[in-house]
Amino acid sequence: MGKLVTWETGKIMQEGWGEVQEMIDICDLAVGLSRQLHGFTMHSERPEHRMYDQYHPLGLVGIISAFNFPVAVWSWNAMLAVVCGDVCIWKPSEKTPLTAVACQNIIKQVLKENQVPEGVFSYIIGGAEIGAKLSEDTRIPLISATGSTRMGKKVGEKVGARLGRSLLELGGNNAIIVTEKADLDLAIRAIVFGAVGTCGQRCTTTRRVIVHENVYDVLKRRLKKIYNDLPIGNPFKQGILVGPLIDQAATENYLAALKRVVKEGGKLITGGTVIESKEFKTGTYVNPALVEAKNEFPTVQEETFAPILYMIKYSGPVTEAIRIQNDVKQGLSSSIFSNDIRETETFLSHFGSDCGIANVNIGTSGAEIGGAFGGEKETGGGRESGSDAWKIYMRRQTNTINFSSKLPLAQGIKFDL
Ligand code: NAD
Repeated sequence: MGKLVTWETGKIMQEGWGEVQEMIDICDLAVGLSRQLHGFTMHSERPEHRMYDQYHPLGLVGIISAFNFPVAVWSWNAMLAVVCGDVCIWKPSEKTPLTAVACQNIIKQVLKENQVPEGVFSYIIGGAEIGAKLSEDTRIPLISATGSTRMGKKVGEKVGARLGRSLLELGGNNAIIVTEKADLDLAIRAIVFGAVGTCGQRCTTTRRVIVHENVYDVLKRRLKKIYNDLPIGNPFKQGILVGPLIDQAATENYLAALKRVVKEGGKLITGGTVIESKEFKTGTYVNPALVEAKNEFPTVQEETFAPILYMIKYSGPVTEAIRIQNDVKQGLSSSIFSNDIRETETFLSHFGSDCGIANVNIGTSGAEIGGAFGGEKETGGGRESGSDAWKIYMRRQTNTINFSSKLPLAQGIKFDL
């Protein structure tokens, strides 16, 4: 499966295997969770009554997924949904149908061995029109959709119009703040993995690095050197760290964004070209770009799904870096590199990062499945994977039981017949 993920998406083998490991991890988590779908018990205000809430299966869950995590996103949703007692219908990305077919074939075996009907998991291969049909279908109480903000707005509107439930996992514009108190060696490793890993095609990819003026030049010099030596190439080859973009349209978006940002006043530090040679004929291998820019540039405000890292300089206290970081429409992942507890705690406080994920001294990408995953603002507000994300796949019911021979009313209301 890991090899097929690499074959179909172009992500390097390490990441193909990592994605499959993530599927195994969520299966483990879901099995444990199946015994922990707890509700609360409350004391009733009425004598000889008891109250509690419990969770029942929601029914049918529709899963729409993106190309960049073609199997992990399905498993995050489907494994939780199924231990919650739901059945799933999956519409994978039209760019990655093979891994979906492989998943179904694997799960089919598991279901057969356990005498569970195959239809508990099903899928439809197709494009946006199938996703749109699922979104409109009143038989599907929950649509979990992962993809661009553009897609999420359409799905959210359709599901909202029928007052269904949606779980939206959309685009990010993630930043790493590097203060003058940062361990630069640590920060650089995280920045490079975050910015060029998966060829810049993760929702949590580091797109902006906001650097204190006192360490800006040294960081720029060191990043430039690393970018110039990046091993780019066949994602199956050991030692390669950057594979291709998903398709030529992605390359065109990459080049167009670079052209725009330079027009807006940005300065290309290095990279930004398509690699063309006998070995690289597809037009999808690119040199990751490092660009000096300002946060307010329209292109910096957008998510370009490609390896472009914008370097943004700040001066003054950490609150200024946080202001810049939060000054975008998206709110997925964020991190700070600093060894100063005042700076890091400010970043994590209610006036700190406004993102769904806020990390200290680790990068923006590479989340563990144990935590709830997702983001705020135009990232959609959904949470999936660990913590209490399972609750969205169930319907909550409050139960009050009277074991007395009287019928006292709540709030002490008298209604004597
Ligand atoms: P995309 O929005 O083009 O497509 C995602 C899925 O939505 C596909 O299955 C597609 O067929 C479907 N779709 C498209 N339009 C639709 C519509 N109108 N109605 C219903 N379904 C529709 O995204 P992509 O290019 O596959 O993936 C990249 C995007 O996904 C990036 O923006 C990235 O940040 C985001 N993403 C987010 C997360 C997250 O967890 N927040 C994870 C992975 C990817």
